[in-house]
Amino acid sequence: MKNIIFIAPPSAGKGTISAKICEKYNIPHISTGDLLRDEIAVQSKIGIQVKEAMSKGELVSDDVIIKLLKKRLSSKDTKRGFILDGYPRNISQAESYDKLLEELDLGMGTVIYLDISMELAMKRALKRIVCPKCGLSYNPLDKELSPITEGICDSCGSKLIQRSDDNEESFIKRFDTYMKETYPLIDYYDKRNSLAKIVIDGKTPSEIFEEVERIIK
Ligand code: AMP
Repeated sequence: MKNIIFIAPPSAGKGTISAKICEKYNIPHISTGDLLRDEIAVQSKIGIQVKEAMSKGELVSDDVIIKLLKKRLSSKDTKRGFILDGYPRNISQAESYDKLLEELDLGMGTVIYLDISMELAMKRALKRIVCPKCGLSYNPLDKELSPITEGICDSCGSKLIQRSDDNEESFIKRFDTYMKETYPLIDYYDKRNSLAKIVIDGKTPSEIFEEVERIIK
């Protein structure tokens, strides 16, 4: 199994796809958003520092992220492969990531671009509910993504909540940031022939998952 990164706007489904791949192939799912939310939950120095920027949908400074990421990628469980979700989000992070992979002797792997329209992504974001305990994401808009019991996490039984940044204002800001900062990465990775694209609109979660599996195999 290779290392996989996703380039995708908010609410494209990267969290859900990643969780399924990681479960099936037994590799860790490393989400920089989750690493940051964990810091906020334990009210660490970093957590206090990033809380406001995150709730406004702004990007957190590269220094903070690379520090958290270096610590996480240094764990033994990343040697067999991992999915990195939410990073890199701009060219400067992509360059830091290249250096980090080299330093930790980890390969570049595959970059998957999830192409979704802003309309569909926003519709999904406004309905998304997440588990505050295990990070799983659900969406009542889609039968395949609905929890078995309404409002309850299938995996750990916790009460599902809406993320504080899944409101219209924050979504538009995050989408705009994605277009300005992250979208240029498509060209960055395409030039190295390490980019695969999946169109999301009009497909079921199972169809999308099959495409991801075809790419990583
Ligand atoms: P996500 O869970 O990926 O949607 O990320 C939620 C929020 O965490 C983002 O809106 C940013 O505020 C912050 N964040 C996550 N990953 C990064 C990153 N690579 N660089 C900067 N900020 C990030």
